[in-house]
Amino acid sequence: MTTEVETTLRGPEAFNLARKALEAMESAGVWPTPLNYEVWIHYVGDPEGPLGREIHRLLKAREPFTEGTAEMLAAEFLPRGRLSEEIRDAGAVLNRELSSVASAIAQAQKSQAAYGETLAGASASIEGADQPETLRKVVSGLSKATARVQEENARLEARLEDSTKEVARLRDHLEQVRRDAMTDALTNLANRKAFDEELLRACDDAERAGTTVTLAIVDIDHFKRFNDTWGHQTGDQVLRYVASVIGRVSKPPRLAARYGGEEFALIFPRESAAEVEGVLNAIRQEIGSRALRRRSTDDELGAVTISAGLAQRHPGESGSQLLDRADAALYVSKHNGRDRVTNGERLRTQAAA
Ligand code: GH3
Ligand code: MG
Ligand code: MG
Repeated sequence: MTTEVETTLRGPEAFNLARKALEAMESAGVWPTPLNYEVWIHYVGDPEGPLGREIHRLLKAREPFTEGTAEMLAAEFLPRGRLSEEIRDAGAVLNRELSSVASAIAQAQKSQAAYGETLAGASASIEGADQPETLRKVVSGLSKATARVQEENARLEARLEDSTKEVARLRDHLEQVRRDAMTDALTNLANRKAFDEELLRACDDAERAGTTVTLAIVDIDHFKRFNDTWGHQTGDQVLRYVASVIGRVSKPPRLAARYGGEEFALIFPRESAAEVEGVLNAIRQEIGSRALRRRSTDDELGAVTISAGLAQRHPGESGSQLLDRADAALYVSKHNGRDRVTNGERLRTQAAA
């Protein structure tokens, strides 16, 4: 999808498409920020694609289209295009470095061959020489040729050193790109893609090593109401705040991710449901006890609360089964009045008893 739109953007239809995007944004009340525009140009360019359908759904549900929404959409639907662009650029740089090193080596080879010829010529001249003057000329010629070859080698060395630095810089840059592709831009937590991969890996590890892993889902309570009262800008600040509290307890091997709009998911390798329940209750208490203030106006916002559900993996259980059980536990928390943590394992025991 992305590539088709990218091609259209460099063709005869480009300006029409751009106008259409701006019009659509204006009538939906979406600010023409660079990120919003990027998302919307892909939407009008391919309304039936996955991104187009998702935006259509959001518009129909009258969901507000915030910067946060655009970031989520871009992370989910656009990174591949952006990533492949970066990789293409990196490939071009590598090619340039390689061909420049190759030509430096070819040049050095040529000089070495010429030097060999000079040496052979000199040895022939020495054999026939009986005058000191002839010898002096031969030796001076040789030392000049040697200096030339040394110079050439120094140039080659410098070129290789530059290339090594350039390739190292490229490697660091690609590492940063890889990290960005795994990070949620609004909260700096892992994004859903990173979470999905990590969950698979954690379940595999647990299965192989016969250990356990516990999964938790955290959802902000009545967040829609909060947004409606205070605006989405402030809502985004609260999202960052909640993410920062969650991120603080999530040092590796734990992983915390923004799983969806106002929903977070956490992986706790080799930790039991009871341990994780304690961690989540600490997070919940910390968030719920803090009186928030709006940064721009210093208005008292009160506290937000979170609900959570957790489940501990059973042998043979897949990541998505585990997710379903954690989600069901979250639903119980919501149903029982919010601002609480539900341990899905305890639910099972009670249901069995
Ligand atoms: P509940 O306690 O049942 O979870 O109620 P809720 O209002 O939190 O849940 P609901 O799923 O009805 O609404 C979630 C709201 O979260 C909708 C949307 O306004 C808000 N939201 C989702 N993503 C973002 C975001 O990136 N930024 C902001 N500001 N709000 C968001
Ligand atoms: Mg919610
Ligand atoms: Mg939710």
